[in-house]
Amino acid sequence: MKKPFVSLEQLQEIVKDYPTPFHLYDEHGIRANARALNQAFSWNPGFKEYFAVKATPNPQILKLLHEEGCGVDCSSLTELMMSDRCGFKGGEIMFSSNDTPAEEFVLADQLGATINLDDITHIDFLQKTIGHIPKKISCRFNPGGTFTLGESKEGFQVMDNPGDAKYGLTRPQMTEAFRRLKELGAEEFGIHAFLASNTLSNDYYPALAAILFQTAVELKNETGAHITFINLSGGVGVPYRPDQPANDIAVIGEGVRRAYEDILVPAGMGDVSLCTELGRFMLAPYGHLVTTVLHQKHTHKEYIGVDACAANLMRPAIYGAYHHITVMGKETAPCDHMYDVTGSLCENSDKFAIDRMLPEVETGDLLVIHDTGAHGHAMGYQYNGRLRSAEVLLCEDGSTRLIRRAETPEDYFATAIWD
Ligand SMILES: *Cc1c(COP(=O)(O)O)cnc(C)c1O
Repeated sequence: MKKPFVSLEQLQEIVKDYPTPFHLYDEHGIRANARALNQAFSWNPGFKEYFAVKATPNPQILKLLHEEGCGVDCSSLTELMMSDRCGFKGGEIMFSSNDTPAEEFVLADQLGATINLDDITHIDFLQKTIGHIPKKISCRFNPGGTFTLGESKEGFQVMDNPGDAKYGLTRPQMTEAFRRLKELGAEEFGIHAFLASNTLSNDYYPALAAILFQTAVELKNETGAHITFINLSGGVGVPYRPDQPANDIAVIGEGVRRAYEDILVPAGMGDVSLCTELGRFMLAPYGHLVTTVLHQKHTHKEYIGVDACAANLMRPAIYGAYHHITVMGKETAPCDHMYDVTGSLCENSDKFAIDRMLPEVETGDLLVIHDTGAHGHAMGYQYNGRLRSAEVLLCEDGSTRLIRRAETPEDYFATAIWD
């Protein structure tokens, strides 16, 4: 069972202040989860989570994570600018971009961010762009092939295709890159890799860590580079479906610790700091898209029309992603009706759910669409002139705070040339 983090009574009060649809975030859940992550890696003195800004680029969310000791992972100019304005300082900013425009390297360097290079050609590009190579630098590794974990009769627990991914340097390029960077004055090196997305397995990070730790030992031996940090990046997932088991971050941290002691410590690299760039894991479960049922339509199928649409949450429309739906106040009613839950876009993919079993829904019901805290509002767009919704924070004391207002038609018209 997936339970909303608000009750119907709370929500009925909240919608008096903020008309639906809106994204609601749970401060308590966000903080508790960030603390659990930091606790899980507290055995590593240099550990730091750099929150992947793209998941939820809201200044108040970033500040809240900053208070919990997190930095930020940026991959664009505006993400760097937002992080700077939110008060993140040099060492708290990771810049993991790809196909990077020159101006972004310039700003990342000005801010003192740690630059994570996506390609070997970016070494010379960076040198030319900012006039030097930073003393601390990182390279993104892509081992190619496929990455699998935990084969069983049902298939693999985790399977992804780094060989098809546009990111990162090959293994031979890593060696060449470290040699070149060293020649150009780099003194502290990091290694980054992102091999699988939204993993539901406590073994993903430990397996990735083992690969990176082994690679770090080899690179140190081959190039003499002083490797001071290893970045496990993102990829720890969340259970979108109610029957999926959640990851246990304490078990994950312990698994990484074992790999660290098995591989890095014997190689005399027991001072390496670890970092993560989690996005989804940090925010997805702590966001709800709150929407009201506007219409019921009985044609070839049964449709529930709500006031949110794919412009507020794109994942179901573009990936067929499952997002659980709770009909507020009917949590214990039997799910004996089958519905398509749709938005209003002139796009047949604008469906939050297809053939979903729900309790009998009535016009005016409030629906909570779960796990929208990451890549929810962030992926919003304005197709059909549907505007991006407000974002509201449910504070730890039970009060609410508007953390982004809804767009207005004036916002939508502002970039047009009218005459
Ligand atoms: C998207 C992204 C992340 C975050 O990934 P999650 O799966 O949300 O944890 C981390 N690092 C980089 C470079 C990314 O592009």
